[in-house]
Amino acid sequence: MKRIAIFPGSFDPFTKGHEDIVRRAIPLFDELYIAIGINSSKNYYYTTNSRLAQIKSIFKDEPAVKVEAYDGLTVNLCKEKKARYLLRGIRNVMDFEFERAIGQMNSDLAGIESVFLITDQKYSAISGTIVREINRNGGDISQFVTNMEELIITL
Ligand code: ADP
Repeated sequence: MKRIAIFPGSFDPFTKGHEDIVRRAIPLFDELYIAIGINSSKNYYYTTNSRLAQIKSIFKDEPAVKVEAYDGLTVNLCKEKKARYLLRGIRNVMDFEFERAIGQMNSDLAGIESVFLITDQKYSAISGTIVREINRNGGDISQFVTNMEELIITL
């Protein structure tokens, strides 16, 4: 049976921390879906299409990595893709506590195994919130984000 995993997130934007998690997970799975969660009640800083384009261009040479946007429950996407694994990154104890609760619920709901990779130290301070704040205030985010030129800010 193929080992199929989903890496869900808002990825607003997809940072070098996310990229590192995906690159380290590639050898673990046959297929890896990076899934941009779209919640209609939430406002995103970057457009969905530009986030899709940014992530696709980062992994254009990795045939096992696919990129999609989705709405609804992540476990439903897992069923659709026949994925038995969810990939998440852990930066600190706050991530851990949050992920533990979600991981246990996803296991109860659908028998999905969560696979956690600990962030590389050099990326552990990077968060989408801080990167957006730097960008909003005219700072340079290129050291935190690959292919940032693909990203388009939502009006
Ligand atoms: P969400 O809104 O689902 O938390 P994010 O886009 O913020 O979406 O994060 C998606 C996943 O990537 C989460 O598992 C998060 O812990 C992880 N992550 C976020 N930033 C980093 C980072 N700098 N290094 C490693 N993992 C990260």
